[in-house]
Amino acid sequence: MSEQSHYSIVCPHCEAELDVELYDSINVVEAPSLRDELMQNQLNAVECPHCGFRFRVDKQLLYHDPERRVMIYWFPGNEQGYQQHRAEFLRSMEAISTVLPDEFDPPTVHLVFTRSELVERIFMLEEELSERVIEYIKYMMYTRNLEKLDPRRVAILFNAEDSNDRALCFVTQDLETMELEGVLEYDRSAYEGLLEMFDQDDQREQLLQLFPGPYVSARAMLIQDEEREAGGSAGPGA
Ligand SMILES: [Zn+2]
Repeated sequence: MSEQSHYSIVCPHCEAELDVELYDSINVVEAPSLRDELMQNQLNAVECPHCGFRFRVDKQLLYHDPERRVMIYWFPGNEQGYQQHRAEFLRSMEAISTVLPDEFDPPTVHLVFTRSELVERIFMLEEELSERVIEYIKYMMYTRNLEKLDPRRVAILFNAEDSNDRALCFVTQDLETMELEGVLEYDRSAYEGLLEMFDQDDQREQLLQLFPGPYVSARAMLIQDEEREAGGSAGPGA
């Protein structure tokens, strides 16, 4: 079920206090129009009745596609607040599982921190791609081009629209300007090869260790590694 609640917010333009109704969760099978609104950047959009300013309120949102067994939780924030978000996320998941019937086998819940990540993950799961294998491909793209693709400055996003049977497409986004910059392609058959490789028990274990979740992100993982190294805690073999 899609759920809305009342929120008191302040117009960022005229600072008037507004009482608005915003979505906490959307079920896109019951209400496909809400998926469209999200994709068109219109979900939880508000027009201030005092000054006419239009803006989007980024808040926690549960995206639910029961047909595909997809649940994605969007916690607006960043990797820095990860631990805090993680605790909040786990509390929310506990709350959800207590309202589900006992026989209900809950799907994996994906965690994302930005709207771009949310949209990207929806497309990825609708294409039935493995998010861990896709992030592994991004991890390789970053580590092979560290000079050009600094994970602190550049996000790599999966681009479903331009992907086809031959290649998976990715775009790079400058995180300061939010401009989309370059296009990267990855051979679809190489993706299938990775899928097969990670289907083996020991390899699957390694992939899970690389991306334990619930936040699966090559960028965040590389930044965390960098911080760990900068913190002076040299790992084994260093
Ligand atoms: Zn206003």
